[in-house]
Amino acid sequence: MCADVNTIYINGKWSAAQGAATIPVNEPSTGEVFAHISRGGKPEIDAAVKAARAAFEGVWGSTAAVDRGRLLSRLGLKIAEHAEELAQIEARDTGKALKLARSDIAATARYFEYYGGAADKLHGDTIPFLEGYQVMIVREPRGVAGHIIPWNYPAQMFGRTIAAALAAGNTAVLKPAEEACLSILRLTELAHETGIPAGVLNVVTGYGEEAGAALSSHDDIDFLSFTGSPEVGTLIQKAAADNHVPCVLELGGKSPQIVFEDADVEKALPVIVSAIIQNTGQTCSAGSRVLVQRSIYEEFIAALAKRINAVQAGPHGADLDCGPVISAVQRDRVQGFLDRAQADGIQVVAQGKLDSRAPAGGYYVRPTLLGPVDIAHELAQDEVFGPVLVAIPFDDENDAVRIANGTDFGLIAGVWSENGARQIRMAKKLRVGQVYINGYGAGGGIELPFGGFKRSGHGREKGFEALKEYTVAKTIVINHK
Ligand code: NAP
Ligand code: MG
Repeated sequence: MCADVNTIYINGKWSAAQGAATIPVNEPSTGEVFAHISRGGKPEIDAAVKAARAAFEGVWGSTAAVDRGRLLSRLGLKIAEHAEELAQIEARDTGKALKLARSDIAATARYFEYYGGAADKLHGDTIPFLEGYQVMIVREPRGVAGHIIPWNYPAQMFGRTIAAALAAGNTAVLKPAEEACLSILRLTELAHETGIPAGVLNVVTGYGEEAGAALSSHDDIDFLSFTGSPEVGTLIQKAAADNHVPCVLELGGKSPQIVFEDADVEKALPVIVSAIIQNTGQTCSAGSRVLVQRSIYEEFIAALAKRINAVQAGPHGADLDCGPVISAVQRDRVQGFLDRAQADGIQVVAQGKLDSRAPAGGYYVRPTLLGPVDIAHELAQDEVFGPVLVAIPFDDENDAVRIANGTDFGLIAGVWSENGARQIRMAKKLRVGQVYINGYGAGGGIELPFGGFKRSGHGREKGFEALKEYTVAKTIVINHK
């Protein structure tokens, strides 16, 4: 990591915030402060946007697509070479189990490999038009892109948004989350060493209300990519509207796993468990509702309970199924949901174990399965963002669709059934950005377009769809009569 608290990277140089203001960084596994980052704000964001603008109009704008791609691919290789070091940083900073941090870093490297390879394959089109005219559609970068990201997958989010934006020819200003951004600082150093030119990537650490708000309301950015909560997403969209800046919003979810009576239950069970405990439930696409056909409900929930009871939570270094959650605030928020559920008489069906190595000051929550939960209850409607799974019975396909679509969210869904026609019917009716049939999530899913409906946001990241978001079509009409 960079020396002291010089965690702001603008125009190829590291610096501290004005007045040397800092923010402490906690280790979720112990609750102890182990680092500090700079508390950047409006002055730093202004300087970063200025540097990004100059690089867009200068060095990056005149770098051929093939050369942009080569630089990004090289960065991908460098990330892979530093994978263990980065995974250790990520696990300590976020609290996630080491094995998950390792797979996150592998995905981060893949983003740069994928978009590095894609940079020179993003071509335009021609359109047949009136006699005597030639029409070309060229895809141009948007310009200066602002990126605001959360703490749950810092390294992966860096890869997902920065690799795509840079590959398409944009320059970037990134405001990571203050709770966890140390891997991003190291990744930025690696980008520097790889030779990404000064000003192309700028990183300003700080609080959302300060640096984040300064970035989202900046009048010299051309695009905003935000990943985070629906509430802050609304603020971002309003700020962007004031400057007529388009944005991609990747927000929360309350994603269902739908288990029909004809499902391969043995195949479904481990996937359903891992979809809620991965990253201690702090995943936008966590499978946080399990909808089970009433005819197999009791039997299925009993089998699921056995597996949830066996889940172990502990410090990141113990490398168990779950780590702590990110902060005391998040732990109390999750616990609040559990306390209110208890007061409302909702049954706890199963609870995982807390490992004896977990320090008392760490932010631990035991993974919990509750049910049956009424579909109107907050547990069935709101994003908990913790290892809390709610079970809901349904009668038939229509009922499953009604319940699955019956929240304000629409991010992803899983369908478990051996009936091919039903699989297709369900996939078509679910109002979500991704549907998995007899599976859930897929190894980072770098290539797979991802995004939401409703309060889960709009626009798509990942795959080639992201390159479309980070570019805009320009129509050139030539009269050759
Ligand atoms: P959050 O509170 O919305 O924060 C996200 C980012 O926005 C952070 O960098 C935060 O900065 C910043 N921010 C906060 N207030 C701001 C403001 N007024 N103006 C500008 N920026 C501001 O979200 P979170 O709690 O960290 O993350 C969890 C949420 O992200 C969940 O809802 C989850 O579902 C969602 N998420 C979605 C996806 C997806 O791809 N769909 C992926 C991951 C997570 P500070 O935290 O530093 O203050
Ligand atoms: Mg941290």
